[in-house]
Amino acid sequence: MDINNINWYPGHMKKAIDKIKENMKLVDIVLVLVDSRIVKSSMNPVIEDILKNKPQLILLNKMDMADPKITQNWINYFAKKNITALPIDSKNGKNLDKIEPTAKKILEDVLANRKDKNIKSEIIRMMIVGIPNVGKSTIINKLSNRQSAKTGNTPGVTRTNQWIRIKGKMELLDTPGVLWPKFEDNEIGLNLAFTGAIKDEILDEENLAYKLIEKLMSIDPQILEKRYSIDTQSKETIEIMDDIAIRRGCLLKGKNIDYSKVSSIVIDEFRKTKLGRISLEDVCD
Ligand code: GDP
Repeated sequence: MDINNINWYPGHMKKAIDKIKENMKLVDIVLVLVDSRIVKSSMNPVIEDILKNKPQLILLNKMDMADPKITQNWINYFAKKNITALPIDSKNGKNLDKIEPTAKKILEDVLANRKDKNIKSEIIRMMIVGIPNVGKSTIINKLSNRQSAKTGNTPGVTRTNQWIRIKGKMELLDTPGVLWPKFEDNEIGLNLAFTGAIKDEILDEENLAYKLIEKLMSIDPQILEKRYSIDTQSKETIEIMDDIAIRRGCLLKGKNIDYSKVSSIVIDEFRKTKLGRISLEDVCD
């Protein structure tokens, strides 16, 4: 099943949350996986409430795709709220070894309490939650050295949980909690679509590319200038799109612009980080 095709009906949402709440009782800490490029947009709207009294570690995944300065801004932002955020790259395994020591620090009191009660176990039990496409299967596979994750991507489908023993003293629930993305805000919808977190049907590809060019121009005109060797000064978005198309030979008969082709190039190159490490949301946005 294509995980991006889940239709989140209220019943699905309730089942997903109930399952997460049930699993939460089994774990010491919840790892909340978000996309470093769109930290706000990839955060589920209700997860904060649910985690109020539960130790949590925010994992800023896909750090390799995001602007390091902005990722640091997010770390500082969460630190002010007394929440630890750790940047990671699940695909390449970067910083995954820091999860255990970081979780131990967050759980210092819990672990000390176990000692007081003479509980011998030093195992930290964890679960991962996140919206589709943030990298849940990737991190589970990496941590467990498994080739393919069993993804529990159908909301509310009950499966017997398995514990994955990870190097060190950690155990991870093999089924991640799949959360729905925020839909309420147009800007958030676009951010999710730009990064491929939701299907492109929110906008057709040409409109999505147009909006992406607008967004990239607002972040830094040099992103497009450098990649496509174009001049963007005092140009309208559509003119920039035309210039990129000309550079890339996206032309139809009669020298008309092939908007479909240029749109797919820009979106694809953004998603493959060919335009550089770009964060679409900063703390103060
Ligand atoms: P899930 O829906 O949350 O299980 O997400 P997946 O694990 O299927 O990952 C979605 C896509 O993001 C896949 O193409 C992964 O290869 C990619 N991905 C996951 N984590 C990272 C990361 O840290 N860096 C990069 N560059 N890609 C990642």
